[in-house]
Amino acid sequence: MTVAVNVYGDDTWTLQADDDQARVVNSRLGVSWPVEAVDDLECLRGSAALGRVANLYGGSALSFFSPRACYFFADGTQCRFCSLAGTAADTPFANRLSAAQVRDAVAAVLGAEPGRINQVMIVGGNERNLDTGFRRHVGLAVAASEAVAAAGMDGQVSVHLVTMPPRDLGAVRELDGVPGLHTGFNLEAWDPATFERIAPGKSNDYGQAAILAALERLVDAVGAYRAHSILIAGLEPPASTLSGAASLAAMGVSPITNVFHSDVHSQIGLSVRPSYRELAEVASGLSELHARHPIRPYWKGCGRNALDFEASHGMFDGAPPALDGAS
Ligand code: SF4
Repeated sequence: MTVAVNVYGDDTWTLQADDDQARVVNSRLGVSWPVEAVDDLECLRGSAALGRVANLYGGSALSFFSPRACYFFADGTQCRFCSLAGTAADTPFANRLSAAQVRDAVAAVLGAEPGRINQVMIVGGNERNLDTGFRRHVGLAVAASEAVAAAGMDGQVSVHLVTMPPRDLGAVRELDGVPGLHTGFNLEAWDPATFERIAPGKSNDYGQAAILAALERLVDAVGAYRAHSILIAGLEPPASTLSGAASLAAMGVSPITNVFHSDVHSQIGLSVRPSYRELAEVASGLSELHARHPIRPYWKGCGRNALDFEASHGMFDGAPPALDGAS
């Protein structure tokens, strides 16, 4: 089974979708494979208004991006892997969502297609006033949680929020008691020098130690292992990613381990390419970590670039396969 293909520059691999069946094709080898595409939600396809507010992410997460701007771009200090500004310019989504828009969209999707989503994800850029931005994000998460409860689907559909921590850490307590909520303050990298280089805005304006302190408060507010933080595998050596994941897990924070992928609008672009061996090392280490701590994966089996769901199911147990020719 081919799970994913990354093509860099000119290549003999192409994706063809001339008919109903998309195929990945290698013209030099004369081989092709069918590609199984995840169906979008019918209600998003059928309503331009709803489609401007939400999208289906990874096959099972109803996602809201708000705001679709981040002040780090205005300062030229955006995270170097981030493509938010370019993507926002290319797509017709609303720039800032209200709590009512999120509540109505969650209700519409759960009413029209119950069973298609298992989580609601709220994410977006950051406002210069971090306290205001945090409170707005909390408002969206509360609205989503209320809509899930009103549909009688709490317990089946969880609500996930990723945001910057507020400056006033007392505001973190506003997350207390929001049912089914998972929240993340993302570190991006564990090694301090890598964090500074990869996330210059976060480093200048908040700092890695302060994010860790905020994560401690987050564990108190949302509960152990419902607090999360991303470490991007491939931006630092595997041992560093795993050291960070172990430290987070020991704090009661569930690490999110996303594999670095190139986004066309990001500053890094194609300049970083994690190898199979590096990622296999991270995956094996994560598997051991999941055996020691009750880590909760941030994404629940939806098709994206996180290793956590698979690690939580023991799919990386044992030595990784050598894969002939893999580096
Ligand atoms: S904090 Fe970093 S990753 Fe998040 S939106 Fe801003 S620039 Fe992008």
